[in-house]
Amino acid sequence: MSISTNLNEVKQTLAPHVTLVAVSKTKPMEDLMEAYEAGQRIFGENKIQEMTEKYEALPKDIEWHMIGHVQRNKVKYMAEYVSLIHGVESLKLLQEINKQAEKHNRIIPVLLQMFIAQEDTKFGLDTNELEEIFTSEELKEMQNIQIKGLMGMATFTEDSQEVKKEFSTLKDIFDKSKQKYNDLPNVQLEIISMGMSNDYLLAVECGSTMVRIGSTIFGNRNY
Ligand SMILES: *Cc1c(COP(=O)(O)O)cnc(C)c1O
Repeated sequence: MSISTNLNEVKQTLAPHVTLVAVSKTKPMEDLMEAYEAGQRIFGENKIQEMTEKYEALPKDIEWHMIGHVQRNKVKYMAEYVSLIHGVESLKLLQEINKQAEKHNRIIPVLLQMFIAQEDTKFGLDTNELEEIFTSEELKEMQNIQIKGLMGMATFTEDSQEVKKEFSTLKDIFDKSKQKYNDLPNVQLEIISMGMSNDYLLAVECGSTMVRIGSTIFGNRNY
């Protein structure tokens, strides 16, 4: 199967309100170009250095999404061009993103990553920590970030009831946050980033508006 065929098959399963992030981490430039030529413009990477190399080499109308865990000292390398940072999980990281965005005279859109899984290997905030961020004085000062939504990863399991429960939890947190915090100047909640190759149909059923799909499009990764 070719990348463009895979891409088109995935797109056919997605309603127009669901944004597809093609997760291209570890894949060579040629693979990204094949997806680009088939019309894909949003790519997700989880390492800042790799994403920056690809950004520099590939067409400039690509939107680059950082979907991995972000180290604060590396934010500066992507601040100029990144379109959306999915994995924000602390006020300190938000402050650093805000600072670097200010240097480039732009506003960087971000998602806050929630911990919804039954695994301790996955990152993210609990609901108390989320409240702390939304209600903090520091957030009010940040004029160069915009919180656009929430991101989450479900447990890697065959148990679809469990996965469904976790996605529904994220949707619920999103709805409540939107009611309470959407009038803050730098909060505009419209994105729920949830769903990967093995669980994205379920995620969309549960309210996802953005899916992050890698191996179904590009094939398995060899690390
Ligand atoms: C790698 C990755 C994906 C894509 O995973 P696939 O199973 O290949 O679709 C999605 N989200 C995050 C955060 C990832 O790290």
